[in-house]
Amino acid sequence: MKPLPLHIPVIQNWSCHSCTDCCRNQLLIRITPAEKERIENQNWSPTNGVDPDSMIVAEQDYFRLNHRADGTCVFLNEQGRCRIHEKFGEDAKPLACRLYPLTLTPVGGTLVVGLRFSCPSAAANRGTPLTSRETDLKKLAAEVVPPGFKQEPPPPIADAPDGDWAHFRRFIKWLDASMSPASDHTALKLIRTLHWLDAIERDKLDRVDGNTAEEILEGMVRSAARRFPSLPVPLEPPSRTGRILFRMMVGEHARAITVHDMNRPGRYRWRMLRVLWRFARAAGSTPEMRPELKPVPFSAVEQVSSRLSPSLDAALTRYFRMKIQSVGFCGRAFHNAPLIEGFRSLALLYPIILWLARWHAASHERQALVEEDLVRAITIADYHHGFSRWSRRRVRLLAQRNDIARLCAG
Ligand code: SF4
Repeated sequence: MKPLPLHIPVIQNWSCHSCTDCCRNQLLIRITPAEKERIENQNWSPTNGVDPDSMIVAEQDYFRLNHRADGTCVFLNEQGRCRIHEKFGEDAKPLACRLYPLTLTPVGGTLVVGLRFSCPSAAANRGTPLTSRETDLKKLAAEVVPPGFKQEPPPPIADAPDGDWAHFRRFIKWLDASMSPASDHTALKLIRTLHWLDAIERDKLDRVDGNTAEEILEGMVRSAARRFPSLPVPLEPPSRTGRILFRMMVGEHARAITVHDMNRPGRYRWRMLRVLWRFARAAGSTPEMRPELKPVPFSAVEQVSSRLSPSLDAALTRYFRMKIQSVGFCGRAFHNAPLIEGFRSLALLYPIILWLARWHAASHERQALVEEDLVRAITIADYHHGFSRWSRRRVRLLAQRNDIARLCAG
């Protein structure tokens, strides 16, 4: 089978800076039976730092590398390096480790490259352009796409099934165009985009195909820009329900979930219910959830200015455009959600990231946001965006009230 051509976004840089966040932060590294066998044949023993009896865990339907009690990978050594890599070279590591934080998503005959922004270097745009990694990416792609791979149909745009990839790509193109004007604030671009997507869904325009669809989308993107020329936008404040649901979602995104939690779901659920109740009331102090987000009065978070400098705002726009260009917000990459629903979930990350960034700033006694606050907030929020399906019902409720756009408006 001919390899699928790669589509590599040109707006993003990334190199691994060996911070070891991914080896410390409870990431579940699934391994195939062949990888399990390869690691077992590497002859690990307590004298070279790894107990072979507990290095791999058999879950119900897959194998994974084990964590130590503190959440670090069993193969991470005291110097912060991977023991497999050090002893046998990079190719001896499981594919999931070699791929992270890159993602490769089949999109209608191409393989689109994206990133998990739970990696701090990805969130901070640090490193060399992704386009310079083509050789490595091709090598990984050969392992990611199984022989005889057959492309699935695209996710629906709204609720009409049976679209084709050309139609889906047209929407991706116009979503990206809607989010791209460099002179406009990220919040404004999200509000415009949510506005024209609402109209597409309401008037069932996702069913129109071909050149007519192209003209309709272009017209809608332009008309949303005319309707919302600048901030502040003429929108009501979020509803009371919207504010409560939003705060609960901040609590969900702030959580750090461990393997220990997953193995004791009842206990974990109770702890999360207490957290969500605290966020719903927003009284007193924020709960203790992870070291970098300290318990501070809710009022202290609200006192941190949500103003973003042009460079911080550009970083957020890049984040959203990368999610769009890499199709990392719907379909296969996001719980098989249709494009419009997936975009609404993505847009909701804007106020969530801002709130987490302000919490991070308040935790470090700052009144204004700096890059570190935003980068940390993106890494925390994106981790849950990629892995959690908890929020979908709440996103629908918020969309019905137009609260997503209102929350983006601040
Ligand atoms: S989190 Fe990112 S930068 Fe840090 S070690 Fe992992 S891949 Fe490298």
